[in-house]
Amino acid sequence: TEACLKAIEGADALNAFVHKTPEIALERAKAADARIKEGDAPAMCGLPVGIKDLFCTKGVDSQAASNILKGFKPEYESTVSQKLVDAGSVMLGKLNMDEFAMGSSNETSAYGDVVSPWRRDGSDAKLTPGGSSGGSAAAVAADLCLAATGTDTGGSIRQPAAFTGTVGIKPTYGRCSRWGIVAFASSLDQAGPMTKSVRDAAIMLEAMAGHDPKDSTSADLAVPNFEAMLTGDIKGKKIGIPKEYRMDGMPAEIEKLWADGTAMLKDAGAEIVDISLPHTKYALPAYYVIAPAEASSNLARYDGVRYGHRAMLEAGDGITEMYEKTRAEGFGHEVQRRVMVGTYVLSAGFYDAYYNRARRVRTLIKKDFEDVFAAGVDAILTPATPSAAFGLGEMTDADPVQMYLNDVFTVTVNLAGLPGISVPAGVDAQGLPLGLQLIGRPWEEGDLLNTAYALE
Ligand code: GLN
Repeated sequence: TEACLKAIEGADALNAFVHKTPEIALERAKAADARIKEGDAPAMCGLPVGIKDLFCTKGVDSQAASNILKGFKPEYESTVSQKLVDAGSVMLGKLNMDEFAMGSSNETSAYGDVVSPWRRDGSDAKLTPGGSSGGSAAAVAADLCLAATGTDTGGSIRQPAAFTGTVGIKPTYGRCSRWGIVAFASSLDQAGPMTKSVRDAAIMLEAMAGHDPKDSTSADLAVPNFEAMLTGDIKGKKIGIPKEYRMDGMPAEIEKLWADGTAMLKDAGAEIVDISLPHTKYALPAYYVIAPAEASSNLARYDGVRYGHRAMLEAGDGITEMYEKTRAEGFGHEVQRRVMVGTYVLSAGFYDAYYNRARRVRTLIKKDFEDVFAAGVDAILTPATPSAAFGLGEMTDADPVQMYLNDVFTVTVNLAGLPGISVPAGVDAQGLPLGLQLIGRPWEEGDLLNTAYALE
């Protein structure tokens, strides 16, 4: 813990930790020492971790990287972060992220950009660690903590993991409680671990997962011992390669990464089969209707009354002006854009044309996966991202769709509620990490982790 706290002090340039909690960390570390001495050490006893700012942590700033929640110190602890405390882990602080988890580069944060610890060979241009869990990815990659929590609504664990050479798993929807995590798109949001290895991910996921009566969508299922399932034996497993993920203009190095990963699984005894997920091309448009729709509803609670920021008012201002000024000041650009898109697609005149249609498409996407799993496929292998990390400032606010295209391989998994993991699988021509994604059957994270373990 002390070594991590020191590393964090020396890493301000990364802007990964935005609220540091050294007192809490040292106190928990001491308690962990005592438990170890007593021979009563739980799974993550004494392990220093970072917590994404989206998780409410009792008495500690929990701002979701938004100005509208500035100064918000919850009276309660999210279920997942509490489970991590119960497992003996030591919170070092809160981690930067895109505002309300909306973004793929950590550039929408009210705290400013996170800088990846990675650089292209021979260049000192600053790169994005990905987003929205960019602080988590950068902190783990730079050894500021052993592991971190992330959340994934459309790829926010898996894409930053791929960009930073770390492991990130988005569990099956319902595996981890959403209680106490600031809501973005409730039917898609899931928490998960971001770690340095598949084994760490298995240990941490087991600690985070489990039924919670406070989240009606959390599944009442036993949590297996995921670590014990890491045998590395994948003989006879059927791995599907979906043809729709072979996009036009895919960079040769991504093609190669994918082919190499396929060969590795085959060498380990898996059976490789070509599969089709025909509705893949509709996933991104459907996601960018459904996610903003749910966000516009979830973010209605930030009204200047109940949480955080309230704008200074002038004489004569009424409640409408209070809402308007507060929300205009408190929300950043991307969040405002999503609230507007979401409000539009949910409005009486456009609900059927956009929101309802997107929901139908979502059902078809889910069915694509159900069909291949019913045909005996155990896991699906795809690239995690269409490219390696890009430069900070390279994608402009003026063309949001360019940014949204980053999520092309990840959003399908959230729409279908499936578990997906990104594992580091090599580097590009400039020495930057690349990730492969494995998608598994619902509730079979153990199997998925084991396949990822064979790939690691
Ligand atoms: N990049 C996607 C978005 O901006 C996904 C974000 C996430 O998973 N939280 O919506």
